[in-house]
Amino acid sequence: MSVGTLEELLIDELKDLYSAEKQIVHSLPKLAKAASSAELQDALESHLEETKGQVERLEQIAEIVGKKLTGKTCAGMKGVLEEGSEVLDEMDEGSVRDAALIGASQRVEHYEMAGYGTARDFAKLLGLNDVVELLEETLEEEKAADEKLTAISASVNQEALAESEDEDDEDEIDEEGEEDEEEVVKHG
Ligand code: FE
Ligand code: ZN
Ligand code: FE
Repeated sequence: MSVGTLEELLIDELKDLYSAEKQIVHSLPKLAKAASSAELQDALESHLEETKGQVERLEQIAEIVGKKLTGKTCAGMKGVLEEGSEVLDEMDEGSVRDAALIGASQRVEHYEMAGYGTARDFAKLLGLNDVVELLEETLEEEKAADEKLTAISASVNQEALAESEDEDDEDEIDEEGEEDEEEVVKHG
């Protein structure tokens, strides 16, 4: 589709968001399942349910503007989600992986926030007030999801740090087994 007007650009942005949300619905279960922290898992699962509602909101918007939103793939979200699944492929489960999962999930939220903010502004300029309202509802959910992840990251990152220190201690024993024995004697 060639984009020449602000209205066409809005439709293009909405298509991008529709594709992004559908990709998220597809990928979030895997990311949620991979979380070791119950709190993180809950947050991701409840955002999955919210995301399904966001897809429906975009379908409502499609009816209001009288356009189909199918047929486009959001390449940006595809890349962001690919990075998320790399985390699962490359890291063992635990708090460090949870910290990486939060980073990947917050990238998803920020990408969406940028898209919804842009589309909302275009819709406002075009006087599409019902559309503005629906986009804003979703934008607020994305912001809240992002903030919740920030809150969860405080404890997860601390655990990741503790887990890393344990890991470092193990490495030292592996590499310097003799010295560790000496130390035991000293302390004894
Ligand atoms: Fe979303
Ligand atoms: Zn996109
Ligand atoms: Fe989201």
